[in-house]
Amino acid sequence: MFNKKFNDPKKVIKRGGPRFKKDCSFCKNTLDLDYKNIDLLSRYVNSRGRIISRRISGNCAKHQRKISQEVKRARFLNLLPFVGK
Ligand SMILES: [Zn+2]
Repeated sequence: MFNKKFNDPKKVIKRGGPRFKKDCSFCKNTLDLDYKNIDLLSRYVNSRGRIISRRISGNCAKHQRKISQEVKRARFLNLLPFVGK
């Protein structure tokens, strides 16, 4: 039956596949990640105003945390939108 397929260890679909090398642009270059640097921050915010996830942007955890902090700071100061169009 349908269920048997999933119980068979040989047929278990492996998740993932080839891993992409992480290339954090902030680790490579010394960019000043700051709430005043809107041009830089807006690259990590999509058209709807949401912060792009680490899986897509490829940043490291440390810098992703920093980005989200700075984006939120910029939003509070009305430099970036909370909600896009
Ligand atoms: Zn980094």
